[in-house]
Amino acid sequence: MVLVLVEQAGGNAIDPSLQTLTLARSFGQPVHALLVGSATDLTQHGVAVAHVAQHVALGAYAPDAWAAMLNQLAVQLNASAVLAAGTDRGNEVMARFAARTGLPLAANCTSVSPGPPLTVTRLRWGGSLLEEARLNSERPLITVAPYVVPIEPSSMPADVEPFAPELTDENLLVRVVEHVAAPGGGVSLTEAKVVVSGGRGVGSKEGFAIIEELAGLLGAAVGCSRAVTSAGWRPHTDQVGQTGTKVAPDVYIACGISGATQHMAGLKGAKRILAINSDAQAPMMQNADYTVAGDLKEIVPAISAEIRKVK
Ligand SMILES: Cc1cc2nc3c(=O)[nH]c(=O)nc-3n(C[C@H](O)[C@H](O)[C@H](O)COP(=O)(O)OP(=O)(O)OC[C@H]3O[C@@H](n4cnc5c(N)ncnc54)[C@H](O)[C@@H]3O)c2cc1C
Repeated sequence: MVLVLVEQAGGNAIDPSLQTLTLARSFGQPVHALLVGSATDLTQHGVAVAHVAQHVALGAYAPDAWAAMLNQLAVQLNASAVLAAGTDRGNEVMARFAARTGLPLAANCTSVSPGPPLTVTRLRWGGSLLEEARLNSERPLITVAPYVVPIEPSSMPADVEPFAPELTDENLLVRVVEHVAAPGGGVSLTEAKVVVSGGRGVGSKEGFAIIEELAGLLGAAVGCSRAVTSAGWRPHTDQVGQTGTKVAPDVYIACGISGATQHMAGLKGAKRILAINSDAQAPMMQNADYTVAGDLKEIVPAISAEIRKVK
């Protein structure tokens, strides 16, 4: 059997975890899931058994505790592989799991061919190249690149079983003690259906007023490039890309962003891209589904004005 860590948000499994369950089925073995704290409905995702970890210390996210739990359950079930979504959390937990046990970890995989040896394809360099790697291990650890594997439903009445992990104080040294809402509140970048994002072309911190205005009209989240966070115009939490947030909106509106590979690495899950740029040859314009060549300081307010008219 293979074991999958399933992350939840608002009582539901997050999409990258459901994508991981889909990929886990390509091992051709029963898929078990580890859920932390509470159960969620996995009957459409081919899960044979959902193990629900319960422990008094699990109210807050603690990466070493999650890694220890995964290891304990993997040993108990004699799992032939352990998978998690390649989210910030998934990669953090699996890195700790690998470091503590010495098991090999392949991060951000897009496919697996069961071995032995197990062969994986994974994203490297922010998605600009694909690597084929072989893992010689009785229990390889794998994270799955978010928004690359489509979720394929597979009906199975998952058994739900409680799991009582043994955790030490050491497992809880690193844990979340406080949640601070991102400035501006509103729609989260990872879950937004529309993202309006600004780059160096916006020109200044104050220049983001027109980006925020358009985002507000569309019920969108505001994103930005690293040039913007480096200039201190926006907080790092708004940064999209390889070293920022990976987004998966229906529409990504890139205003004054050149489209460097490190920025595009955060857009792999975007269904459509609208680029607004004064340089028609900018890589973002070449990668976009829709383009408007011109000065964003004129175009963005003009779009907002049109939306106001139809509202
Ligand atoms: C290890 C590493 C990790 C990185 N991680 C990230 C990351 O996570 N995210 C990220 O974004 N970058 C990242 N970068 C940086 C990345 O390489 C680029 O430098 C950055 O994305 C450029 O930001 P930009 O497109 O806003 O700026 P620029 O490349 O300067 O582009 C500005 C664009 O605005 C256009 N423009 C200018 N004025 C106007 C106007 N008035 N109207 C319309 N268009 C206009 C220009 O034509 C240009 O295309 C990383 C780099 C490294 C080395």
